[in-house]
Amino acid sequence: MKIVLATHNKGKIREFQKAFSEIGWEAIPIADVAHVPEPEETGTSFKENALIKARYYAKAVHLPVLSDDSGIIADVLGDKPGIYSARYAGVHGDDEANNQKLIRDLSSYTGDDRKGRYVCVVALVWPDGRELTAEGTCEGIIRDFYQGQGGFGYDPLFYLPQYGKTMAELPMEEKNKISHRGRALRALLEELKKE
Ligand code: IMP
Repeated sequence: MKIVLATHNKGKIREFQKAFSEIGWEAIPIADVAHVPEPEETGTSFKENALIKARYYAKAVHLPVLSDDSGIIADVLGDKPGIYSARYAGVHGDDEANNQKLIRDLSSYTGDDRKGRYVCVVALVWPDGRELTAEGTCEGIIRDFYQGQGGFGYDPLFYLPQYGKTMAELPMEEKNKISHRGRALRALLEELKKE
């Protein structure tokens, strides 16, 4: 079985390929299959945005497509940064500016008020319209200083009390075991195995 990955992120591609190889599926990055413009993420939830991407590419390439949408949520900020995590400070993908805005927005909070979570929804859409989604979360504390060089995005601020480390200090294999993305993907694979 062939599946197309709706992402250009090399880390995600490696992780998804490894997971799907375990059930005997070949996962191919979208860039190797077609050059189509990215769809606009106009949804109001992670699930809607993941489905928008997977539906769009499944129509374009006539193969099953896997997409994911993810972000970070600070409990005291309601659902923020949430689906706007990648462009929280205004410019898409400016990790440094996004981190600094989150530090500023949480500057008056301490202790449990700094709790937050990463959320990821993965969506698998077949060209015939069949759809499957799964969600994964990972809880932690959002700190106001950086620690660690690994990972990406908000990882140097995201502290995991059970490890005594930030997400940016965990080796990739360890991160995948506990991350929102790893959990969402494993939940999706469980659903697939049931079929
Ligand atoms: P996307 O799902 O690739 O669009 O990612 C959304 C944004 O959420 C990223 O740009 C990051 O800012 C943040 N994010 C999602 N997953 C992670 C993660 O594992 N570590 C750090 N930041 C993340």
